[in-house]
Amino acid sequence: PLGLEGEVAELLEYADDIRVLGVRANADIPRDANVARNFGAEGIGLCRTEHMFFEGDRIQKMRRMIVSKTVEQREAALAELLPLQKEDFKGLFEAMEGFPVTIRLLDPPLHEFLPNDEEQMKELAPQLGITVEELKEIVENLHEFNPMMGHRGVRLAITYPEVAVMQTKAIILAAIEMVKEGKKVKPEIMIPLVGTVNELKYLDKIVRETADKLIEEAGIDLDYKVGTMIEVPRGAITADEIAEVAEFFSFGTNDLTQMTLGFSRDDYGKFINDYIEKGIYEKDPFKHVDQTGVGRMVKIAKDYGRSVNPELKLGVCGEHGGDPESIEFFHKTQLDYVSCSPYRVPIARLAAAQAAVKFKRGKFVNYAD
Ligand code: PEP
Ligand code: MG
Repeated sequence: PLGLEGEVAELLEYADDIRVLGVRANADIPRDANVARNFGAEGIGLCRTEHMFFEGDRIQKMRRMIVSKTVEQREAALAELLPLQKEDFKGLFEAMEGFPVTIRLLDPPLHEFLPNDEEQMKELAPQLGITVEELKEIVENLHEFNPMMGHRGVRLAITYPEVAVMQTKAIILAAIEMVKEGKKVKPEIMIPLVGTVNELKYLDKIVRETADKLIEEAGIDLDYKVGTMIEVPRGAITADEIAEVAEFFSFGTNDLTQMTLGFSRDDYGKFINDYIEKGIYEKDPFKHVDQTGVGRMVKIAKDYGRSVNPELKLGVCGEHGGDPESIEFFHKTQLDYVSCSPYRVPIARLAAAQAAVKFKRGKFVNYAD
């Protein structure tokens, strides 16, 4: 397996002694989680569960769920997905050996889960007891012109709370199995794209009721956390209200950049070089935290959040979490951890140590001048 050896491994151990920021990885499958562990990750900071539905025939089940007309039909499709998801999460828990695993509830742009050709429609319509024409109309009604600003994240869970219930059950049942096998497990359930505390309250209640019932039935002790992503500007500027409910925040700096700057994360490549050439932007803001834009959002959310809950755990799971320059900024801003691609974990460990030395925070605090 991939991993670190010899002098590099030793150097990174020194870095670990010095750094204050935790380093986690973004991983959706056990193979990536294992790579992350071998590179020294101290948990999973983001598991994007939507990636799990593109495997095998899961996508068909998901499509059936989304276009179903009744809750019963939706629940039947979800019942087939539950055992598969439970195994997915168990695999991640096993790989992370008791380190925290942050699992984000489904956050796809909806169109990725809609049937998109005649063939798929013909297969799906009879399963739902409707005609192909009726199905086309349902799909047409779900069509969006701007899916990335549309029916995704927590909005999807508000329309289809059954999905959040299924995923919570899968997470908690997998965690219960771990506990029964005498293994350590730290599940963290994360709600994406929250912009107002009311969205979070609605989901938090569903998630907690579902989880607590299963834990009670199992008759065991199991700790889990429910938190949110901060990736919509409104979420950042109302972070004091959100911190009343969330046990942790993870900054989704990809969406936060898109929405704070008003640049589409899929299309900004068409003009960003002109901006950089003409000195309007110094650097690519999707790669390095733009400190006067997204950076200020992060600071505002940290200050508001910690004013309500000084213990509030704060992490970053956007692309910036693996960028040394941004890591320095997150260190200065006193976040708790960054989460990045497994392959960037060693770089993040070094960058976090370098920031601690440079700003004399942490082990160097006594040497501050
Ligand atoms: C983000 O928006 O920064 C994030 C981590 O979520 P995603 O990239 O999946 O939208
Ligand atoms: Mg996002």
